[in-house]
Amino acid sequence: MGAAARGCGKTGEHPCAPGGGRLLRISDVAREQQGPATNADVWPATGSTNALYTADSAICAECWLAYLAPIDRWCRSLAEPQSFRVPLPPALRAFPLPRAALPAETVMYNQLYGAGLYTESIGYWFERDDKWTKELRKYSREHGLSFDVEAGPPERQGQVLVSASCWRRG
Ligand SMILES: [Zn+2]
Repeated sequence: MGAAARGCGKTGEHPCAPGGGRLLRISDVAREQQGPATNADVWPATGSTNALYTADSAICAECWLAYLAPIDRWCRSLAEPQSFRVPLPPALRAFPLPRAALPAETVMYNQLYGAGLYTESIGYWFERDDKWTKELRKYSREHGLSFDVEAGPPERQGQVLVSASCWRRG
């Protein structure tokens, strides 16, 4: 059984099922709709379809969460925090953004859903700035978010990736 069969077998689990949300195969989504504004986890801004999905992976035409078989969760990433069908928590929507934009900067919001739980996050790269990191850590602590910092790979020398996440029952 491939990812598609598995995905379709899980249709009861995305937030607008049962009774709502028409499921499509990723490859059946209209060409003009295949892009990061629909789901940046499936269709990143740079390049082709995320290899963690297959042409047969299920995607919901209502909430646009896509079934991510390797972790058995429905997943959607967007650069625009207001565009999720089920709104992100206020603490993530208001998470402080970098003051100085980097050319390679991408602020990305993510929503995962499965087994009745939402796991939601924001992540972005910025030029290492320990004072800023400290502010973000403080914001996260005050708003009950888990906070993580990681150093960049060689091609991102001097940059760090920050992410903040939380979970709740859906
Ligand atoms: Zn849905």
